[in-house]
Amino acid sequence: MQGFEKYYRKTWSQRLDVLKQENKLSKKQVEQLKQNAVTPVLGDTQIENFLTQFQLPEGLALNFVIDGKEYLIPMVIEEPSVVAGASHGAAIVKKAGGFQTKSSQRAMRGQVVLENVTDLAATKKKIEEQETELLQAAADAHPSIVKRGGGPLALNVRILGQGLLSVDLIIDTKEAMGANMINSMLEAVADKLRTTGHYDVLMAILSNYTTECLVTASCQIPVANLAKNGLPGLKIAQKLAQASRVAQVDPYRAATHNKGIMNGIDAAVIASGNDWRAMEAAAHAYAARDGQYRGLSTWEVVGDQLEGELCLPVPVGSVGGSIGIVPLVQVNSALRAEKDALGLEKIIASVGLAQNLAALYALVTDGIQKGHMNLQMKSLAVSVGAKEDEIQQVVSALQKLPQQDQAIAQHVLDEIRNEASENE
Ligand code: NDP
Repeated sequence: MQGFEKYYRKTWSQRLDVLKQENKLSKKQVEQLKQNAVTPVLGDTQIENFLTQFQLPEGLALNFVIDGKEYLIPMVIEEPSVVAGASHGAAIVKKAGGFQTKSSQRAMRGQVVLENVTDLAATKKKIEEQETELLQAAADAHPSIVKRGGGPLALNVRILGQGLLSVDLIIDTKEAMGANMINSMLEAVADKLRTTGHYDVLMAILSNYTTECLVTASCQIPVANLAKNGLPGLKIAQKLAQASRVAQVDPYRAATHNKGIMNGIDAAVIASGNDWRAMEAAAHAYAARDGQYRGLSTWEVVGDQLEGELCLPVPVGSVGGSIGIVPLVQVNSALRAEKDALGLEKIIASVGLAQNLAALYALVTDGIQKGHMNLQMKSLAVSVGAKEDEIQQVVSALQKLPQQDQAIAQHVLDEIRNEASENE
């Protein structure tokens, strides 16, 4: 495109100038990009062709008691009602003693894929016999992680069929999520396999199906605590458990069930500066682990308790990537005050379970729209141009109406303004 040749070589302000010169944006729009670039030097080091810093709102989720300690959880998300939902779900669990979490391992997996393998079983055996040597090659490629007490732990060779073999490395990445360090180690292993075994290496990269960092958050809620709108708590708990069973048998429902869980998880992961695409990929792959896509959480009525459990991979770190360089990520870490990456994993799993509880509770009682619409009305008011005090006036007027949409919000705002000008 004219004017965009070698765009990546231009400075930040030159890049903005091109947008103006080539009539892609008006002077005012370019100024908006400039004003939103709060830390242009940082942005320019984070990504290519940096223009501006795109903002998302950050809110604080409350009431999270996890393994006996209370946490404040910053969440970054544009969707109304997620922070409120997380805090509400967490409040129900707090009253019942809080979340319990467990994790058996914190490691990552990477794979070197070999192609054109004629005898898969014999090659698998041969490579397995080289385990010590290959793990050493991996360790030598990133010695600093070994010094920190981590590094390659095990080798696992899997036959994929069609002449394909996956040589998997399980790696302890300590406090990092580890993508970059794993990739360096895998490339060293790939070189070793190429040079010593003359294998045909197709690729070497970490796996985002991170089954070596599973975390479980659980809770037990006395059913009596769930009573609402004249409905007994037991009845609501049974409906909630039934809703969770629907997500186990129906992928259409499971996708929405899990989207609700990820509303909270993504928001907490983004606030922590971690890679939320990696989190999403891991969660959804795990949801389909037995061949059918299912809900990640389960709820069951056991005696007079509603028991909830969410088990999923949480591939996050407390260092690495943009964690150490984005100032707000550090502020958020201070707010959560978790001990380490494992502590963060446990918070994230608990957020997912709280979010899920709030969504299912709303679904089987009032329906999802009631809570949503109160917050949605604020967005509706802003979308039609309401400013400052007008926003609450539009929301209050909309709440009294049987239906709310943009045209109605516009009409309400016009009336408020007409009335105000008549009173002047
Ligand atoms: P980094 O490449 O930033 O590596 C972690 C850094 O943290 C290293 O420099 C390491 O130091 C340092 N560090 C300091 N203290 C510790 C400690 N206690 N434990 C471990 N490391 C420590 O990040 P990652 O390797 O974690 O990779 C994450 C990034 O990779 C994310 O930004 C992600 O988006 C991206 N990515 C993701 C991919 C995917 O998911 N498919 C693919 C490619 C990239 P030292 O150097 O001394 O070891």
